[in-house]
Amino acid sequence: MIVFVNNEFVPAEKSALSPFDRGFLFADGVYESIRTYNKKLFRYEDHIDRLKRSLREIRLDFKELASIKNIIIELIKKNELENELLVYLQITRGAAFPRTHSFPKEKISPTIFISVQELKESKEEQTDGVKVILQEDVRWLRCDIKSISLLPVVLASQKATEENAAEAILLRDGMITEGTHTNFFAVKDETLYTAPKSKLILEGITRKVVLELCEKFKIDFREEFINKDDLKSFDEFFITSTTKEITPVTSIDYWTINEGNPGKITMSLQTVFKKLVEDY
Ligand code: PMP
Repeated sequence: MIVFVNNEFVPAEKSALSPFDRGFLFADGVYESIRTYNKKLFRYEDHIDRLKRSLREIRLDFKELASIKNIIIELIKKNELENELLVYLQITRGAAFPRTHSFPKEKISPTIFISVQELKESKEEQTDGVKVILQEDVRWLRCDIKSISLLPVVLASQKATEENAAEAILLRDGMITEGTHTNFFAVKDETLYTAPKSKLILEGITRKVVLELCEKFKIDFREEFINKDDLKSFDEFFITSTTKEITPVTSIDYWTINEGNPGKITMSLQTVFKKLVEDY
């Protein structure tokens, strides 16, 4: 596998990073995951806008964003990959010695890392639905930044895996924020509900596309937090992300929803979403 690290295309096993990289020492960096449909980078501008915002919020001055698209295209060519792809892109503040928490006094270059891999899509999850578990949201209060500091997500995701669930849905003060790597939606009386844009969630690009589809197809939606205690008053649930697209949720902890069948609105949104990406 060829990766792009520190301005070079190199085989992953030959790539080297300083142990003083602030990404390694402090998780001082941000990232994006972008996928292709029909070999084209899906909603690339939205991902780059979100990356710009993350960089700005952590005060990381990175000037070369305009050249990234060509680097990604070159990296895809070098890896000779055939199917649809997932691009991982990470920027850290760079390497500096001695280790100090505050930004280094001297100017350092940010570290950029990009990899591409073939997407492994789970058709079954999308047709049959998945189980999710509820977990306390112990992340920091800037979940709107796509930070590489992901330990709470690692632990919650691991718990989900151990319980044979596809995702952990996070609760802050009894309110559902989002999944560890997905946004969460519920449907009641044909109206969609999802947590509002705020510092407590990441504004997913798929979430944005879903809300655009709702506007287009005149499906009502409300950006409101859902209380855990009200979950049982909803008819359907689904999660969204770049890789999971629109995935129905058919059980939450020990509760099987609608006899384990994906919801009607969920599936019709999935159909229009599929059509949109097919034509992309
Ligand atoms: N929330 C979190 C915390 C995430 O990590 C992700 C994945 N990037 C999402 C939501 C979904 O975002 P997107 O639709 O852009 O993949």
